[in-house]
Amino acid sequence: MFTRILIANRGEIACRIIRTARRLGIGTVAVFSEADREALHVHMADEAWAIGPAPASESYLNGAAIIAAARASGAEAIHPGYGFLSENPDFAEAVEAAGLVFIGPSAKAIRAMGHKDAAKVLMEKAKVPVVPGYHGAAQELVVLAGKASEIGFPVLIKARAGGGGKGLRRVDHQSDFADALSAAKREAKAAFGDDHVLVEKLIASPRHIEIQVFGDHHGNVVHLFERDCSLQRRHQKVVEEAPAPGMGSDMRAAMGATAVKAAKAIGYSGAGTVEFIADASEGLRPERFWFMEMNTRLQVEHPVTEAITGLDLVELQLRVAAGDELPFAQSDLAIEGHAVEARLYAEDAEKGFLPAIGQIDELVLPEAIARVDTGVAAGDQITPHYDPMIAKIITHGKTRKEALAVMRAALNQTRVGGLITNTVFLKRLLCDRDVNAGRLDTGLIERAFSGMSLAAPYDPELAALAAIEIIMAGSAVTGGSHDHSAFAQLGPWCHWGWPRRSVSLVCLGVERHVVLQRTGAREWLALFDDGEPGKHPDGMAPPRDSILLRVMPGRHVGERLIERLDPDGGRRRTVLVANRPGCVVITAQATTHVFDLTSERAETDADPASGDSVIAPMPGIIKEVLTRQGASVRAGQPLIIMEAMKMEMTLAAPRDGEVCDLFAQAGRQVEDGTMLVLLKAQE
Ligand code: ADP
Ligand code: ADP
Ligand code: MG
Repeated sequence: MFTRILIANRGEIACRIIRTARRLGIGTVAVFSEADREALHVHMADEAWAIGPAPASESYLNGAAIIAAARASGAEAIHPGYGFLSENPDFAEAVEAAGLVFIGPSAKAIRAMGHKDAAKVLMEKAKVPVVPGYHGAAQELVVLAGKASEIGFPVLIKARAGGGGKGLRRVDHQSDFADALSAAKREAKAAFGDDHVLVEKLIASPRHIEIQVFGDHHGNVVHLFERDCSLQRRHQKVVEEAPAPGMGSDMRAAMGATAVKAAKAIGYSGAGTVEFIADASEGLRPERFWFMEMNTRLQVEHPVTEAITGLDLVELQLRVAAGDELPFAQSDLAIEGHAVEARLYAEDAEKGFLPAIGQIDELVLPEAIARVDTGVAAGDQITPHYDPMIAKIITHGKTRKEALAVMRAALNQTRVGGLITNTVFLKRLLCDRDVNAGRLDTGLIERAFSGMSLAAPYDPELAALAAIEIIMAGSAVTGGSHDHSAFAQLGPWCHWGWPRRSVSLVCLGVERHVVLQRTGAREWLALFDDGEPGKHPDGMAPPRDSILLRVMPGRHVGERLIERLDPDGGRRRTVLVANRPGCVVITAQATTHVFDLTSERAETDADPASGDSVIAPMPGIIKEVLTRQGASVRAGQPLIIMEAMKMEMTLAAPRDGEVCDLFAQAGRQVEDGTMLVLLKAQE
């Protein structure tokens, strides 16, 4: 066995590999880009080497720098993880040429499966059923369009070098073919530098079922059963499970044997995955599955296989790479229970699952009840340079039902503060009827979620809090978390005039105008106007709703304990606040609310005897309350008698109106600026 290995990757997979190596007593060397100086994998490894700037092309894809780090550190082998250089045969060769071991299959095997077209030719020869289609050399539009109509629409155009769902186009009609072809080629060229495509029949009711295979250098190849990865968005997996629901033992045996045949055809060693597409329109049938591609590396979703087999696939990879024979035969392997994995991403389900970037302010993961593989910690950034995955959550149960139930509980315990994540989406998906019944296909997510809003509903309490945060942070929202001890002190603006600040925010595309008044050290009255642009109150427009909110610091930085004090109140809740440039991000439980700041200004009512409210002009005690909720009052009518600085003073109604809120209570101490009476809005 090796004494020291280098991990040519980052994030959760680097951490996961380090964990196993450590358990086996193998020294670990990490590599990092400039963006990852403080990353978790750097801290976890025994030592770490800088390999270049943040862009992957200059660091994690810089094979020469990685090999140099391996030699300098005395590592004997390189584990490539997944993605990056893991399926690059030139890198595998360069590693071997440098006298190091590549922990993966031979460069020859990687090359054989590297292009989907060549792989299909090879598989046909090995008598592995492949998805019907055209995977020849011709690339002219006329030829490909002709092949497409021979195959029969709908078809799928695929980049031969594709991966991660990129360079795929579904085409339903001949008339759309030319446009789809040029789009697919453009995308493939940009992503893989290779615009060669193949055309495949689009399988009906498709289920993505893949077989984990393992080979060693002694000619043994086994399979570790299947994973169902049909829950996909943008042709990318998001929830995976093992075994596949509804999979009979005959189908499992057929798929397993086919996958082993595929691996043996290329002399495979190490961990690999043979991906099949199955037509599930009439249930899973042994004659209705076809080879799609082989991934010659460890797969993101390998933990579900580990959960049902009790094996550590990284340990097996290390043993096989060190020359050991596989420690078991096919007949020794069995499935125990059921496992599910959910990928927690910083992405916006509402915006087509686009990656979301930002700082992770808070990270609570369900480690007590699930396996959690992560590569980030609170305080880390999700940058545009790398994959936006935050964590993988894996649950295991005796039955599928049990594993799903634990997953739902695990997601309920998950809290990521400060950026948009797919947590709510995952929770909904895990509650879906078809998902729970095991009626899966790759179109499920699109069908179940089209037109369904996943955004957290507008929450006026949080809008009020966002406005308060903006005021407390000072007029300039400059970014970074501001000093939360601001809550311990009074804002300076409190001491001049009759303080009102108005803040305009945009939430979910709707502009909201909030006028804030401080009514106590930690109490605020937020008045909302009708929210229609152009009707911004110039001190004139009638406020419609009001929220009286107490905001207290929470136990941790960025946390607030908020409580409604008006008649709608009663609930206290802890939320997490992040002040970002131009916006405030508030996380309440699993939902993230973004409030964009459009404008903010102070409105000093020069004449306190106008407007809608009666406010304590200085600190004091309420002696008497001369009115009641709902009373009609006339301008100048005494409403409150206050004692301040040993003087009694009478506070009168600023105008004719009706008392809509009465906050004053006889005997109560109030601070200056405290709102005592609010008149109903004028028509
Ligand atoms: P898998 O088939 O391994 O479960 P997906 O199909 O979801 O994974 O994505 C395809 C692959 O793309 C991933 O396994 C991973 O190898 C790779 N990948 C995509 N983006 C990145 C990235 N930013 N960093 C590393 N690997 C990536
Ligand atoms: P990638 O290399 O991007 O992973 P794949 O060939 O594995 O590309 O395809 C990605 C996904 O696209 C599959 O998991 C499946 O959901 C869908 N897909 C691929 N081929 C077909 C097909 N012939 N019919 C229906 N769906 C397909
Ligand atoms: Mg694939």
